[in-house]
Amino acid sequence: MINLKSILSIFFPKRCPFCGEVIATNKVICKNCEKKINVKAIKNTLTTRSGRRFLCIAPFAYVEPIRSAIHDYKFRGAKSFAVPFGRYISDILRETVDTTKMDLITSVPLHKARKRERGFNQSEIFAREISRITGIKYVETLKKVKNNKVQHELSLDQRAENVKNVYAVLDKTLVEEKRIIICDDILTTGNTMAECANMLFKSGAKEVIGATIANVENRRK
Ligand SMILES: [Zn+2]
Repeated sequence: MINLKSILSIFFPKRCPFCGEVIATNKVICKNCEKKINVKAIKNTLTTRSGRRFLCIAPFAYVEPIRSAIHDYKFRGAKSFAVPFGRYISDILRETVDTTKMDLITSVPLHKARKRERGFNQSEIFAREISRITGIKYVETLKKVKNNKVQHELSLDQRAENVKNVYAVLDKTLVEEKRIIICDDILTTGNTMAECANMLFKSGAKEVIGATIANVENRRK
C-alpha cells in the first residue's frame, strides 16, 4: 500500500542510528549493529531511603557500543537513538510486568537550567517513545528543585547525599494510587532512581518500576 510514510522513506530513508546504514521502515537498527549491541534483560531490586523496594530494568550493560551511543544521544543531540532505546526497553518491560496495568510513564527531570543548556531531557525523549509503543500515557510528575552537582563527579559516599531532597512531586494527585514506570538514561549507583522513587512513594504511588537504557554492572550495592 502506498502511504505517506512509504513515499517519505524514498526521500528520507530510515537509517541505523549506530552506523548510518539504510534500514527497513519496520526496523530500528541494522543487522550488523544488532549483533554487536548484546541485548540483555538486566534486573535489579533497589531500596529507597524509606525502605521501599522496587524493580529496575535495563536492556543493556554500560559497555561499547552502547556507551558511545548514550553519549552521542545526550551530548550531541542524536535523538534518533531514542527509537531503538525505546524499543528495547519496551520489550524488557513487556516480559517483566503486565504493562496494561501500569498507569503512567514518567522520567527523571533535569533542572530547568540544565534542560535549557541541553535543549531537551534525554530521559523524557525515550520515555515518550516507550509510551508510544506500549500505550502507557506519558506524564510529567517530578521537578528538580535544586541544581545539584553532577553525580559522576562525586565519590560514592557523596552521591547518596547529593541527591537527597533534590526532587519534588509536581502534584500529589498525579501519582497517588498509581503504578508508575520512571525512566532515566543510566543506572549507576541507583541513588538518583531511588530518590525519585522515594518521592513518588511518599506521594502515594502504589508501584514504581525503574527503566534505564543501560546499567553499570559491578556497581556497589
Ligand atoms: Zn548499524
